Order: sequence, then C-alpha cells, then structure tokens
Amino acid sequence: MTNMSETHEALIQQAVGILKNARSVAALTGAGISTRSGIPDFRSPESGLWDHVDPMDVATITAFKQNPQAFFDWIRPLVQHIFRAEPNAAHRALADLEKYGPLKGIITQNIDVLHTRAGSQNIYEVHGHLRDATCMQCLETYATDLVLDKYLLNGDVPRCPACRGVLKPNVILFGEILPITILNRARRLTQECDVMIVAGSSLEVAPAGDLPMLAKFAGAKVIIVNYAETHLDDLADVVIHADVTEVLPRLAAGFLPGA
Ligand SMILES: [Zn+2]
Repeated sequence: MTNMSETHEALIQQAVGILKNARSVAALTGAGISTRSGIPDFRSPESGLWDHVDPMDVATITAFKQNPQAFFDWIRPLVQHIFRAEPNAAHRALADLEKYGPLKGIITQNIDVLHTRAGSQNIYEVHGHLRDATCMQCLETYATDLVLDKYLLNGDVPRCPACRGVLKPNVILFGEILPITILNRARRLTQECDVMIVAGSSLEVAPAGDLPMLAKFAGAKVIIVNYAETHLDDLADVVIHADVTEVLPRLAAGFLPGA
C-alpha cells in the first residue's frame, strides 16, 4: 500500500477500530464499487450513455414497452461491459467481511451481480439485477447468460424461446416501482446495524441514498468510502475519499483467518 496518504492511513485505522467493536454491519454499494471492474457509472459522462439519448426517452417502463429496440440499443454498451467484468478487490473484501467478520448484508444499487460472483451471500439488489430476464408476454424467467448471446453480438432484441415475447431484464426501469420486499428488508438491516459502510455510492439516488441517514438516526456509525464527496459526508463518522479497491481490503484484513 504505497499511494495511501498518512491521512488516509489514520482514517483507515479509525474505521477498523469501529468495525472491530461492531456486532452488526450493513454495507451500501453503488456504481463506484464496480468502476475498477471496467463498468462505467451509467450516470457519468464517461459511460457514453448520455451522449446521444436521454435515458428518460428510452429507459422508462413505458418507453420500453413501446420501443424495446431503442432501450436495448441504448443499454447495450453497459451490458457488454457488465458481461465482460470480473469482481474486484472491493467486492471480494465485502464477501470476506461477511464470511469472517460482522457484515450482515449488502444493499446495492448495482445491477451487475458482481457481489454475488465475489461470494457474498446476503445481498439486497434494490434496483434489480441482470442475472435473469422475464418474458413480457408469458412471464417465464430465463437466466440472461442463456438468452442474451445474440443481443450482445448483434443487438437483436432478446426474445422468449417459448413464445417470442420480448424479454425484459430484471432491472428496475425509470418509472417502475422498486421491489418493496427487498427494500423493506434493506431498511430493516439498516435500522438494526450498528455500523453502515457506504462504498462507491455518491448517495444521489433515493431511496438507497437516504439509508445512511436512517442508520445514523437509529444510532449506527457511518463509514463512507467514496472517491468523490457525498452530501452525507458531514453526517458520517469516518469519510475516506479514496479508491474502494484499496480501502475495503484494508478494512477486511483484520477479520481474515490468521490475522
Ligand atoms: Zn414468453
């Protein structure tokens, strides 16, 4: 660990101390935890997803039903990145913190399934996920890696093998209701934890972005690890503006077997 400043070192030690005294830890993750896996934050200009199209024109549930081809054309670069991506050190650190430490669950805004692939067990995907897709016509569900091949290759709208209906990935589109059961469990985890780690989320998107405040009001300590500032930095007990793939492994290190 060479490029961590002394300030960062002190903050990491402070965060480790808080985690060592915790019984129940919740993590909240956003796009920033996956950027080092090669998945651009689709809200950022670098994603290219805003260049030619306003997502509000293609990625609402109404737009999807009217013109699925436009939606699939728009999201294809992101899906291609996701299908090429591997979990990184930050995903693995959270899996370790759950297996060996006090982490009880991960609430994520990401649809990329990298927490699952890193070995995490208790995951609340509040914006859905790309793991499977549902037929809009017969409601049959399919694993995306079985039905997205042709789409990823040449952009064809993925269709149900049984009835040829349009397949909608199980992600939450704009204008869709968030999965209420998952959201309620995420809120319960938040209210019951004594520490919440925010990793790679700018906390700009509600309702997940409001959870650290809920945790704080319920008496928990909040640790924020994010490259950029967030509007809840002032509320947090420890704020580390650094790369999540460098900081999270340090937080998990003390809990590993033999540590
Ligand atoms: Zn079907």
